[in-house]
Amino acid sequence: MCFEYRHFVIARPNYFRPTPQQLSDFILALGRDSWVSCPGSSSRNIQYKNGTNAHAKASGYYVKSKAGIAAGTFPPKESVLAASLREDAILRWPVPATGTAGLRYPLLPVPADDSQDWYWDMELHVGANYVYHSSECIDPFHEKVKCGCGTAVEFADDSKLFFDPRLYRKCPKCYTTVNVSTLKAEVHNGWTEDGSKIAGGGAYCTALVIDCGKCLPNTTDGRIELHPELRKLCENIFQCEFYELGDVY
Ligand SMILES: [Zn+2]
Repeated sequence: MCFEYRHFVIARPNYFRPTPQQLSDFILALGRDSWVSCPGSSSRNIQYKNGTNAHAKASGYYVKSKAGIAAGTFPPKESVLAASLREDAILRWPVPATGTAGLRYPLLPVPADDSQDWYWDMELHVGANYVYHSSECIDPFHEKVKCGCGTAVEFADDSKLFFDPRLYRKCPKCYTTVNVSTLKAEVHNGWTEDGSKIAGGGAYCTALVIDCGKCLPNTTDGRIELHPELRKLCENIFQCEFYELGDVY
C-alpha cells in the first residue's frame, strides 16, 4: 500500500457544533482515557520534534485558526475555547512515531508493525460553516446544495485551514439553518472500491479526524472503525450521533 489514510468521524446532524463546555470536557476526557497525551499523564515522553508540533509540547495539542497556530491550554480554558469556536478551528493532537508508549490506538484494526512504533494525528475540526470535503473516495452531493428558499449555499474558502469548499451553515438570505443531513453522497472504499450512499456525505461542521499518514491500520478490505470506547466517549460528551468515512489520499 503506498497511499495515506484519513478516518473521518462526523457528527450528525451535520450542522452540529459543540459548546465550549463540551469541548473542554472532550479535551479532558481524551487525556484521562489515554487517547492523547496531556500534562500529568504517563505518556509525557513524546518528542515533538517538528516545528509545528512543538506547539503541542505543553498541553498535548494546539489550535489552528485563520489567525495562525496557538498552543492549547491545559486544563482547557472555556473562554479561550469560546473564542476559537466563533470561527473555524482545528484542535490537533500530534502523535509522532516515538510517542506511542502509553497511548491507545484510536482505530481498529491497529497497524501491522509489531514494534508498535505507530504514529497518527488526532484532529477535531469545528467549522463556523460546513466543511464540504470531497476526494477520490468521497463524492460531493449530486445536486448543488441549496437552502429551502432556493439560495445556493456553496462558497470558496481561501483560509488554508480546511482546503475544501464550504457551505453556509445559515442561509445568507433567510438565515435558516441549512441541513444537509438527509442529502446523500456516494462514497467508495479505498481498498475494494465498493460504493455506497451515505447521508450527509463529507459535509460537516464537527468531525474527529484521525490522520494515519502512511502508518495504515492492518486491513485488506478497508474496514476500519473508530475504537468503540472512543466512539462512546464522543457520543456521551457531544450528545449526538457520529458516522464514519474512510479517505485515502
Ligand atoms: Zn434561505
